Amino acid sequence: MSACYICKQALNSRALYELCEQCRKTETFISKTAAKRKYLLNDDEFAPLFKYTKSYYCNIGTFFWEKDVEQLADKIRPLWRERHEYLEDRRFQRQLVKLQQIETRRNQIAELLTKYGLPTSKTDYFLNDYIETGKTVEDPEKYIKQKAEKLQRETQIDTIRSKKNKTAPLQEIIDLYQSQGCSAVLQKYPHFTPTCSNQGDLEWVDQLFDYAIIENKNITSRKNELINQLKQHGMFLRSDSKICDTYIKYGLDAVSQLTNGRISSIDKIIYTMVEMDFLFMKTNYYKVLDRLTQSHSDSDDDDSDMSPDYGLSNDEYYECVEQAKSKALYNYVNSHPNIDLSTISPLLHPTITELQQKIAVEKANNAIKKAEKIKKQHKKYPNKDQTRTPPHTRKIE
Ligand SMILES: [Zn+2]
Repeated sequence: MSACYICKQALNSRALYELCEQCRKTETFISKTAAKRKYLLNDDEFAPLFKYTKSYYCNIGTFFWEKDVEQLADKIRPLWRERHEYLEDRRFQRQLVKLQQIETRRNQIAELLTKYGLPTSKTDYFLNDYIETGKTVEDPEKYIKQKAEKLQRETQIDTIRSKKNKTAPLQEIIDLYQSQGCSAVLQKYPHFTPTCSNQGDLEWVDQLFDYAIIENKNITSRKNELINQLKQHGMFLRSDSKICDTYIKYGLDAVSQLTNGRISSIDKIIYTMVEMDFLFMKTNYYKVLDRLTQSHSDSDDDDSDMSPDYGLSNDEYYECVEQAKSKALYNYVNSHPNIDLSTISPLLHPTITELQQKIAVEKANNAIKKAEKIKKQHKKYPNKDQTRTPPHTRKIE
């Protein structure tokens, strides 16, 4: 019957080691490799010692009772202790230095976070790794500064977003920038000319914000101006007017672009609004336009540059609009021989007067044609005809 090597307690006959379970748990054992390093012993010198073999971390290793090894080393390598203590001391010193460095970096980061207005709890994975290892973040100040600026920007954007009064284009520019990026902003707002070339970096975004704020002011002043001018002509700003909307949001250039140069001044915008109001209220403009756009889209199969509403290109559509305006006005003047101009905006008086004259001429010419027809029919009575034809019905050129 075998006994435990350390406590001499009798062991179960089926025990794998010459050690009781208790000793295996409480005593210190050392692997051969570690013992050689710590006690400066060589392979042969371990030979007489009690050893036991066990598997650990999927390997099989030879282990010694550390007290045995220590006794042996004291006997044949007494200097081991001094060396070991020296090494331990150095290890401790290094550990100490490392801890001090970590503490220094922790304070450095805390100071920087405070300096850039961030809570000291605002460390992240990279900063924590920097504190622990001194690696990962090359320039902590630059990193934290960027982090703070990014956070500030996000806060700024959130503030703008949360505003109930969503004012374009500030809102629009920011949405555009966030959803589609720098190039989309540059394309839609050609007047935005940042001085820095790195699209999307903080300076660029700053300038974009400044631009958006100025645009916002421009928008407000353009809107007020338009409302005032419309008011002077007894009109209100219509929310469904694409021209007004374009003018308010983007200015005259954009209106001119939208209308192919037909409208390039605020006076022309006002005129158009007054004219459209009249056309919609008093004439059959809408029907005429509908008919014209229908016939246009039926005859034209070209799919390029289609206006989504009518299946026409922008050019074609505005051509129809112009034609419809002329026709509707003509029909109106033609069917109203006694127009009370005081009920119509003075802006339209020249056009209407011109049309009245044109129609008068046409009527006169028709009358002449009719008279000539009658003349031919009554050739039998030349004398009568001559006296009947009044001089003012001569053809007017
Ligand atoms: Zn034991």
